[in-house]
Amino acid sequence: MASLLIVEDDDTIGAVLRSSLRAHGHEVSWSLTGEDALRIAGERDFELVLLDLGLPGLDGVEVCRRLRARLPWCVLVILTARHDEMDVVVGLEAGADDYLTKPVRLGELLARVRAHLRRGVSRTESQQMLVVGRLRVDTAARRVWLGDREVELRVKEFDLLARLAAEPGVAVSRGTLLADVWDEHWFGSTKTLDVHIAAVRRKLAEAGAAPQISTLRGHGYRIEPPSDAAEGDPGA
Ligand code: CA
Repeated sequence: MASLLIVEDDDTIGAVLRSSLRAHGHEVSWSLTGEDALRIAGERDFELVLLDLGLPGLDGVEVCRRLRARLPWCVLVILTARHDEMDVVVGLEAGADDYLTKPVRLGELLARVRAHLRRGVSRTESQQMLVVGRLRVDTAARRVWLGDREVELRVKEFDLLARLAAEPGVAVSRGTLLADVWDEHWFGSTKTLDVHIAAVRRKLAEAGAAPQISTLRGHGYRIEPPSDAAEGDPGA
């Protein structure tokens, strides 16, 4: 469960968003104006804000900028009434993390919120160390070790490995990896995912005996946990 804030002046949309997010166990506040949202954000913390850009009074982009300053760790998702690229660009420049275009499809909204919150957890938990056999991924420091050797990874390679290592032995779909590691509104080829996996495998292999990252054809990837306790010797 997370604490969410909706900033939306349309009664119908606001009510639908609030009830579906509440139905998924979140604590939801709803502001009808940017001024009210900024006031609430000054009083308490939120993990995620859904912000309509078309607001009466204070301009949505300005609200975005001020919310970002007030809630530096919060995930800011802007809602735009139409597929207006300029709105999106300006909103992202004003500190938004993501955007959704209206009419908002609830399934997509809930999936994005889930992905953002999951990523937020690994971002905010200090001392978050993911361990898979000899592999250690320090998500707070963004460093990776295999045994006592540090492995240098690029940004997305790190994110990808951290995402897989968060759930050893669990099949993670391509869609989930793309949503969690890349921006959901990313239009590139999904080939990029395979290229990054290949790079992670190669860099780990260069550093020594690493947990295997299995390809699940037609589904995604899975990082394999040590096959038995004997291989789990930390730092071996
Ligand atoms: Ca509006």
